[in-house]
Amino acid sequence: LHHNAVLAMPWSLCLLWASCVLAVPLSNPKPKLLLISFDGFRWNYDQDVDTPNLDQMAQDGVKAQYVTPPYISITSPAHFTLLTGRYVENHGVIHNMWFNTTSGMKKPYYQTQHVNEWWDNGTVPIWITAQRQGLKAGSVHFPGTASSYQGEVAMKQEVEPPHYNYKNETAWQENSDKVMSWFRDEDLDFVSLYFGEPDVTGHKYGPDSPQRRETVKQVDRAVGYIRHSAERHGLTDRLNIIITADHGMSTVLRKGQVEEIILSKIPGFSFKDLSFHLVDYGPSGMLLPKPGKLEKVYNALKGAHPHLHVYKKEEMPERLHFSKNDRILPIVLFADLGYLINGYFPVQINKGEHGFDNQEMDMKPFFRAVGPAFQKNLEVGPFETVNIYPLMCHILGIQPEVNDGHLNATRHLLVTSQTRSGELT
Ligand SMILES: [Zn+2]
Repeated sequence: LHHNAVLAMPWSLCLLWASCVLAVPLSNPKPKLLLISFDGFRWNYDQDVDTPNLDQMAQDGVKAQYVTPPYISITSPAHFTLLTGRYVENHGVIHNMWFNTTSGMKKPYYQTQHVNEWWDNGTVPIWITAQRQGLKAGSVHFPGTASSYQGEVAMKQEVEPPHYNYKNETAWQENSDKVMSWFRDEDLDFVSLYFGEPDVTGHKYGPDSPQRRETVKQVDRAVGYIRHSAERHGLTDRLNIIITADHGMSTVLRKGQVEEIILSKIPGFSFKDLSFHLVDYGPSGMLLPKPGKLEKVYNALKGAHPHLHVYKKEEMPERLHFSKNDRILPIVLFADLGYLINGYFPVQINKGEHGFDNQEMDMKPFFRAVGPAFQKNLEVGPFETVNIYPLMCHILGIQPEVNDGHLNATRHLLVTSQTRSGELT
């Protein structure tokens, strides 16, 4: 009797404890989110390649027909839009290259990753917002990771070394496993993970090349690997995965196919009238005329080539959201698909390019999402990538910063359920 009485008490306490402590996390596990970018993965790259893992992900989750990147459709500006939900004129990372119009200095993409003031200019990425609200955030190779923001950095951050080989599949797997261990062993809530392909291959061989199709197969294997790794780490019921990209890719046409745009050959135009220029960088360019020379430069270029668009900064079409920022130079140029903007003579050797008008279908990235927050086997219409940020904040249960996106544009991707904050989605 004595023996049974002693056992009876803890048993009932045990039941009480179990119903309070265990029931909550089981019915509403803390949602985690992994944002993945495959640089330059155009919306329709899965249409001429077998992609069993991407297809499975669409079945298990949500696929958008395509998404619309911001203008200017290049890597750093478009990735910072993913991280902030702001258009490029509002987040201020207006180019892959840092530049100084006084000294004439420019820094290429990789070096610019380490120019803190280029990134930290008023808008904070989601890592910082999440951490300020008590969550843990990390990032692997995502553009913007190397910088601090108002003195803060993502608590786990990895920046690729110079001359990094973005195509090494073993490294892709190692990075994927590392991120999963951050989620499982260090309880991170949000991680952004970047892969430099299929952009590199798309540039080098063109978007219609067999090399690009092979690289898409590699991306597809990686997607399968990532989802399997999540499973191995016991994360399937808590981890949401969004896979998208910064921009698409379009075939460059060459002399003989098209009349190339070469600024120095345009009558009435002279580089001597400029104090700074940023050209020979795909289909876009920016010019700073010397004092008093703006009208002369503008009038010489406007209408000079049927496939060259020339705007005074303040006359840029509103839909491009590429005007209201001090860093944007007084004259903005962009070319139609197939064309590049060359300075003195054609020096660009890429067979594929991006940076075009974001209305062009070739510039649209893909979008897939899977996890407990998302509907299953749902294909949705297109939306702008500024709307991914409020979606991510909603899933994580954090208050977003001021941004240009709307949850209403992506809410239909989500299942109706209790979020962490207890509100109904
Ligand atoms: Zn890119």
